[in-house]
Amino acid sequence: MANSQKTIAVAGAGIAGLTLAIALAKFGFRVVVAEKQASPSEFGAGLQISPNARRVINALGLDEDFAANSFAPEAIDIYPHKFDAPINSVQLGEFATKRYDGFSYAVAHRADLLNCLYRAAKKFANIDMHFGIEDIDATQTADSVSILLKDQRGTPFPVTARALIGADGVRSQTRIDHINGKKPKFTGYVAWRALASIDHVAKFLPTNHTSLFWGPDYHVVLYPLPHQQSVNIALFSTHKHKSITHEEELKLNPNKLSIKENSTLSPILDSLYDEFTPWPLFGITCDQWYKGNVALIGDAAHAMLPFQAQGAAMGMEDAGLLAVLLAAEPDNAKAFAQYQQLRKPRVDKVQSQSAKNGKIFHMRPPQAWARNFVVARQSPDAQLKRLDWIYSHDPFEGML
Ligand SMILES: Cc1cc2nc3c(=O)[nH]c(=O)nc-3n(C[C@H](O)[C@H](O)[C@H](O)COP(=O)(O)OP(=O)(O)OC[C@H]3O[C@@H](n4cnc5c(N)ncnc54)[C@H](O)[C@@H]3O)c2cc1C
Repeated sequence: MANSQKTIAVAGAGIAGLTLAIALAKFGFRVVVAEKQASPSEFGAGLQISPNARRVINALGLDEDFAANSFAPEAIDIYPHKFDAPINSVQLGEFATKRYDGFSYAVAHRADLLNCLYRAAKKFANIDMHFGIEDIDATQTADSVSILLKDQRGTPFPVTARALIGADGVRSQTRIDHINGKKPKFTGYVAWRALASIDHVAKFLPTNHTSLFWGPDYHVVLYPLPHQQSVNIALFSTHKHKSITHEEELKLNPNKLSIKENSTLSPILDSLYDEFTPWPLFGITCDQWYKGNVALIGDAAHAMLPFQAQGAAMGMEDAGLLAVLLAAEPDNAKAFAQYQQLRKPRVDKVQSQSAKNGKIFHMRPPQAWARNFVVARQSPDAQLKRLDWIYSHDPFEGML
């Protein structure tokens, strides 16, 4: 029987869950990962992986594998509505890598990152991954959690662990069952995601840059994934209702937006509207990220709007730090309290910056004119300077 004090159970084999599993395994824990999907879930599309997230990837020893399956764009070009040339370019590439201690700003498909983590996790004899888990029945005792995992066939798998960590995403059952019962709220924004061929987009935009289009009630981000011969397109729009049903989701069509008036974007998107998948955006804020021997990481604790491209990054930072704290502190109450104290103020600030970006990106005239005037006159590194507090962050705080 494995020592339960050296066993940690993780609900969810997404980006945060697998990052945590690898980090804990490196500290010698036995990790039991329980995932609802039958295999590593490759849903989603592109992800921007900023230098703060890359710091965690590199600390796991995955720098080379991730570099081979991602791309570092040279810049982010900003195009306001009806502009056919960028008003400013945020310098990335070597410039950003130097600025952030050698950690680069990259883009990848979510599956690129997930598979990189999965390949690494599979190499650890002390990580047990269970896919197709339909039920995680957990009961807390004073210093452990007794868990019964059940798969689709009802086969039970018992685990006694020091802690259960919910990395089960925005709709986290761990949060609902063990922390505060809270369900996520619709944010009022909908994302559509599609992949286009790189040859198609190359006719209109430089495919070594990320392109960001701002418009009234919408914005669009395009970035190249040359290792996949594709370009990730994420289109975001403001939705006028406070709630959203599945039928409404399916009726929504990005074609109806004022993007039609945008002479740079329209020819890129015109042939692609049928490819777009709607993705209503939900968020959650929790005052408390842990209770007893159960804690939350990633979207389960703090799903945020993706307008600062930091959701996965925050989940990876959470995971890296929580592993260090659990290894250093045998008392869960102390480790979790320190985890929340170190993480929550930063995550709250990123969450609110993401919401603020939504308002700025979707401005209408005359506010949009003032925004464009200011951004057009900024030096190329002004945007990075403004975001240094996000990108230069070391979640390990010198603990490694
Ligand atoms: C349009 C869009 C663009 C984005 N762009 C970026 C970006 O550029 N950069 C960035 O950093 N972030 C971005 N994000 C955010 C990012 O995708 C999420 O923050 C990140 O994927 C969250 O990771 P997670 O591991 O916490 O949750 P998830 O990725 O949701 O993983 C949760 C896992 O738990 C599993 N699960 C769920 N319920 C259960 C259960 N009951 N039992 C067991 N397993 C369960 C799921 O199947 C899944 O595998 C974007 C999000 C969206 C919607």
